[in-house]
Amino acid sequence: MEMKEKIQEKFRTLFGQDGDLFASAGRINLIGEHTDYNGGYVFPGAIDKGIMAAIKANDTDKVRAFSIDYDEYVEFGLNEEDKPAQSWASYIFGVCRETLKRGGKVGGFDTVFAGDVPLGAGLSSSAALESTFAFAINYIFAGGIDKFELAKIGQSTEHNYCGVKCGIMDQFASIFGQKGKLIRLNCKTLEYKYFPFNPEGYKLVLIDSCVKHELASSAYNKRRASCENAAAAIRKNHPEVEFLSDAKRVWLDEVRDEIPEEDFLRAEYVIGEVQRVLDVCDALERGDYETVGEMMYQTHFGLSKLYEVSCEELDFLNKLARKYDVTGSRVMGGGFGGCTINLVKDELYDKFIAAAKEQFEAKFGHAPKVYDVVISDGARRL
Ligand code: ADP
Ligand code: MG
Repeated sequence: MEMKEKIQEKFRTLFGQDGDLFASAGRINLIGEHTDYNGGYVFPGAIDKGIMAAIKANDTDKVRAFSIDYDEYVEFGLNEEDKPAQSWASYIFGVCRETLKRGGKVGGFDTVFAGDVPLGAGLSSSAALESTFAFAINYIFAGGIDKFELAKIGQSTEHNYCGVKCGIMDQFASIFGQKGKLIRLNCKTLEYKYFPFNPEGYKLVLIDSCVKHELASSAYNKRRASCENAAAAIRKNHPEVEFLSDAKRVWLDEVRDEIPEEDFLRAEYVIGEVQRVLDVCDALERGDYETVGEMMYQTHFGLSKLYEVSCEELDFLNKLARKYDVTGSRVMGGGFGGCTINLVKDELYDKFIAAAKEQFEAKFGHAPKVYDVVISDGARRL
C-alpha cells in the first residue's frame, strides 16, 4: 500500500475521519562541506525521501500522535513541562514549543505520520520530520510564519529539545527545497539562490559506509580552531576578513610562515571549497555535469588530504568511483564515516554499484547501503 493510503487509513481508524496531508524531505549537499562555520556557501537540495503526515486540529489542548514506523501512540500537552519521553515525539513537541515561543498559534491536533528517510545516514530524517510539522502547524493554525522562520523552528527544536547543536542547512533545504533545483546558501548573510539540477543521463547515488568513527566531535572542534586561527592571521593584513571564507587564496599564502602547517592546510581546503561551490554553480547553469563531477573529486581530495576528515572506508569508495569512471564522488557530511555522494552515468551505474557492494564488503566485512536520490520538493501540502 502506498504511504499516503496507509497514513490515512490509520488516521481514520484512530480519529474517525481523514486528515490533511503534508510532507517534507530529507536532503543532500552536493558540495560546500565544512564551509558553514567559516561563513561560506553550502549547496543542498531536498530529496525524494521524506516524511508524510496527516493532521487535523482537534479542538483540545493536546496533541495525539501516532508514528507508523515506530508503531507507537503518544499524547502530550503543549506546555514546557509536557515533553514526551519518546524521542520521535519530542521532535514534534519541540516544533510546537518553538512555534509558540515565536508568537505562533498552536492548538491541539491529531496526527499520523510515516517516512522513508533512512535514520542517521546523513540525509537528515530529523529535519524532514521537523519541517513537515513546522510547515503543517503553521498552515492549519494560519500562523503566518515565513519560511526562514519555519527552518529556524526546526533548528531550535534540535538545539533545545533534541540536544543537537546543528546549523541551519538541513532545515533550510527541507523547507525551501524544490524539484530539480539546488539552493546555494550563503551561511554568513543567509542569502540564497536556486540553481537548476537536472542531470539527465546521470544518477545521483549515496553509498553509506555504515561506519561512524569516534574521532568526529573532537576533530570538528580542532578544525574550527584551525580555521579561526588562520582567519585571525589573515585579518591582520586584511581587516575585512570576518570569516575564513572572505579570504583570497593569495592572502593565505602571505601568512604561510606565521601559522602552523596544519592550520594552513585546513584553510587551503576551505578557501578552495568556497570557490568550488561557485564553479559548480556556473557549471550547472551551462548544464556541464562533467565539471560538477570533477569538482566533487577535488572536494574529496581536499577533505581527505588537507582537511583530514575522511577515513579508510570513504577513501576506498572514492577511489573505486574513479576506477569505474564515475563522474563525481566525494564524502558527504562532516566526515569520519557516513556516505559518499556519487554522480554516475546511467550506463555505468549497475556495474559500479555491484562492484562497490562486493569489494567494500570483501574489504571491510559488511555491505554498504545504497540510496538513489532525486532532487525533489521540500515542505508542502499534498
Ligand atoms: P538523521 O541524520 O537522519 O537526521 P537523527 O538522529 O538526527 O538522524 O534523527 C533521527 C531521529 O528522527 C529518529 O531517532 C527519530 O526520533 C526521528 N525520526 C526520523 N524519521 C522518523 C520516522 N520516519 N518516524 C518517526 N521518527 C522519525
Ligand atoms: Mg538529524
